[in-house]
Amino acid sequence: MPLDEPYPELEELLAAIGEVGQRVSNIDASEGAAGNISVYIGWPLEVRRRFPVVEQMALPQRAPALARKTLIVGGSGRRLRDIHKDPAANVGAVVIDDEGQAARLHTAPRRLFEHLTSEFNSHLAVHNDQVAQTGTNFHALIHAQPPHLTYLSHIPAYRDQSLMNQRLLRWEPETVVNLPEGIGVLPFQLPGSPVLMDATVAGLREHRVVLWSKHGVMARSDMSVTRAADRIEYVETAARYEYMDLVTHSQAEGLTRDELHTVVEAFDVKTNLV
Ligand SMILES: [Zn+2]
Repeated sequence: MPLDEPYPELEELLAAIGEVGQRVSNIDASEGAAGNISVYIGWPLEVRRRFPVVEQMALPQRAPALARKTLIVGGSGRRLRDIHKDPAANVGAVVIDDEGQAARLHTAPRRLFEHLTSEFNSHLAVHNDQVAQTGTNFHALIHAQPPHLTYLSHIPAYRDQSLMNQRLLRWEPETVVNLPEGIGVLPFQLPGSPVLMDATVAGLREHRVVLWSKHGVMARSDMSVTRAADRIEYVETAARYEYMDLVTHSQAEGLTRDELHTVVEAFDVKTNLV
């Protein structure tokens, strides 16, 4: 189990989601109401005091691995940069039923949204898959739209996953340490579609970040919501270097293969990318 007792309390989780919303916004990865956050909580969590308004909700698909557990999910149309001002009004707590078929949505009386995020199907499917695969008791997911990385995905050659990773890993020594599997590169798919959901589930089995070409990223962590945000910052920073290099007609050397090898050996990084 990644998280040991004492487990974070609801207030701490809401504060962390608020902070992460600001960080993602600070790197320009959530213009307008773009982006969304969800967190799976595998231990008993009392949500009714904070979220006393209860309604039944259908799930977009079954989630048997999440039965009787709780997801904290952002509301549709809410801005990531505003969550910290009043986290409880910007998110809902989804308590899955015994069969993983339906759920109860708990919200605050001053709730500021009608529905949960339109990417809820992907969030639910990835949490369900990760919990089923690994038995984790905590799992955070963030969707964001970091501009430099997304821009690179508009260049056809960069949609080749191995080329993309080779280009991203060559700018800072810690990139490979933090993302030893690199990122998964998915083709463009319609936002909110079942095809995108299935590809995201498969991609996040192998990687901690997947790129939705011409759209944005989905990042996960089974340690904290902050770590999922860190991963988005690492890849966006690498993509910014790559963009700068394209703009300046590729004058930079970047880390050589030998230099990257010394990093991987010194930090004992398990990777097949270097
Ligand atoms: Zn999006």
